[in-house]
Amino acid sequence: MQDQICSLSKENENILLSLIIPVLNEEATIPIFLKKINNIFNNIEYITLEIVFINDGSSDDTLTKLLEMQYHDPRIIVVDLSRNFGKEAALSAGLEVANGRVIVPLDVDLQDPPELIPAMVAKWREGYEVVVGRRARRDEDSWAKRISARWFYRVHNAFADQKLPENVGDFRLMDRSVVNAINALPESCRFMKGLFAWVGFRTTYIDYARPARVAGESKFNAWRLWNFALDGITSFSTVPLRIWAYIGFALAFTAFIFATLLFLRVFISGVDVPGYTSLMVSIIFFGGLQLIGIGVLGEYLGRNYIESKRRPVFLIRKIYK
Ligand code: UDP
Ligand code: MG
Repeated sequence: MQDQICSLSKENENILLSLIIPVLNEEATIPIFLKKINNIFNNIEYITLEIVFINDGSSDDTLTKLLEMQYHDPRIIVVDLSRNFGKEAALSAGLEVANGRVIVPLDVDLQDPPELIPAMVAKWREGYEVVVGRRARRDEDSWAKRISARWFYRVHNAFADQKLPENVGDFRLMDRSVVNAINALPESCRFMKGLFAWVGFRTTYIDYARPARVAGESKFNAWRLWNFALDGITSFSTVPLRIWAYIGFALAFTAFIFATLLFLRVFISGVDVPGYTSLMVSIIFFGGLQLIGIGVLGEYLGRNYIESKRRPVFLIRKIYK
């Protein structure tokens, strides 16, 4: 009932919609992106756009290009960060600057098709607070990327209490209330799609086939993706820490059984000297296991250290409005 009242009042209302677009060395893609946005939104009267670009420390002419575009289009806001802080931090900056009633983060390379946005707004008018774009097909992504993504979701969801929906990125429409909740989160390690899922709210999905990048190159190599995955898992689960206690118990128990067997054998058939191989194998095995355990501890300790410094997530050089 409340939803119905809500949707009736939203029916013909003009809304301010903020697009949040982090950009790193994207001088080639920006004009293509804006052309597409104009094609889609120019004849939709009930949506007023605010286009927030976050220049994430580009070393090419991205900033000049953005300011040139802004000269012709006053809906554009350019947030210039002081250096490259990474996509997650750039998104956080955008979420803080945006004024919209609804907010949509998306990539500039048109891999998050903006033509879905009017359908997302329609869902929002039905009463949903989050409308997530879900990649039903991602044939254009490389084989390695698809496989590693699948494994990431498996491992993450096996560990984390708050499950991540599969094949979902940052592309989603969010109500102002959701963005306020995200802006109020204090942590400096910002694995955005984890935070998006964590805050909850009434959520629905729209499926799409993920197209290839329209120009330029991907900014994420395998090493960056690996670290991104570690950020995700360590931010949302302490299972990797706790698991060592269980492994320890299991090993101690096995060792106890093994020791009993050895004692029995000594009593029955006397002392048996050979055993160099099994000794070496177990020393190496347990040495390795302990190092892994310490490594995992270090991983969390390091993050705790960074978190405790309370440094800002990003620094803004200037906002051009
Ligand atoms: N991006 C960014 N900062 C970074 C890396 C990427 O702002 O450090 C932006 C990039 O310009 C693009 C979006 O994030 O708009 C997605 O990047 P990309 O298309 O390279 O990622 P992929 O689609 O390959 O995962
Ligand atoms: Mg891309």
